[in-house]
Amino acid sequence: MTPLSDPIADARADGRTLLTEVESKQLLHDAGIPVTQATTATTADEAVVAAEGMGFPVVLKIVSSDIAHKSDVGGVALDLADGDAVREAYDAMQASVKSAAPKATIDGISVQQMAQSGTEVIVGIATDPQFGPVMMFGLGGIFVEVLKDVAFRIVPLEDRDASQIVREIRSFPVLEGVRGQAGADLDALEKLLLQVSAFAWDHQEVAELDLNPVIARPDGVLAVDARVVLASEG
Ligand code: ADP
Ligand code: MG
Repeated sequence: MTPLSDPIADARADGRTLLTEVESKQLLHDAGIPVTQATTATTADEAVVAAEGMGFPVVLKIVSSDIAHKSDVGGVALDLADGDAVREAYDAMQASVKSAAPKATIDGISVQQMAQSGTEVIVGIATDPQFGPVMMFGLGGIFVEVLKDVAFRIVPLEDRDASQIVREIRSFPVLEGVRGQAGADLDALEKLLLQVSAFAWDHQEVAELDLNPVIARPDGVLAVDARVVLASEG
C-alpha cells in the first residue's frame, strides 16, 4: 500500500502556506465534507483519460500554489462535453495562464465533474486574534461582494448556531425557495457548516478556509471550489 499523502505536511515541506484546490479538497473530503474531488493531469491525454473515467461533462482548472484566483488568469473551463473539448481547453488554459501569470509554477490541470446548477453559497473561516476561528456564511456573487449580506459565528458552532447563521442573512428567502423556484436542502447545508466548523476546530493551523462556492440544491450541497491557507510558521 502506498502511504496516503498529507497535504498539510506536503505544503509545510515546500515552505508553502497556500494549498491548491486539489489538496484543499482532499483534506475536506477526508473530513466527510461533500466536494467535487479533482485529479491532477499533466498532459492533455491524461486529462481526457481522467474525464472519461469520471464521466462528462467535466471542468478543468489550473493547479498552482501561486494562483489563488483561478478564473482571473483563464484557469477555469466549465461544462466540457467530450474528449475533444477537454483537449482544446487544456491547451488554451496552459497558454492563457502562462501569459497572465508568467511567474507561477504550474503543477498541472485538474479534472473534476461539472456539478448541476443551484444556489451558490460561500462558507469561509478566518482567524480572529481574539476569538480564534470564525465562520462567515452568505450567498455567492453580488450578495457577498456588493451587498455584504453575510453572517458570522465563532467556531465551534453548535447545532443551533448552524440553523441561525443560515437564517440570519437577508437573502435567506433565496435559500428557502421563492416564486416557484425550488429551495436548498437546508438540513444538508447546516450539516456542512457543522462539519466545516469541526474541521477548523480540529486543524487550528488552518488560518483561512474558503469554500467558494458551495452549490446548494434541493437534493443536497456540494463544494466545487476550496482554498486552505495555513498559518505561517514560527
Ligand atoms: P476561482 O479560483 O476563480 O474562484 P472556481 O473554482 O470557484 O475558481 O471556479 C469559478 C466558478 O466556476 C465557480 O464560482 C462556479 O460558479 C463554477 N464552477 C467551478 N467548479 C465547478 C464545478 N465542478 N461544477 C460546476 N461549476 C463549477
Ligand atoms: Mg472560487
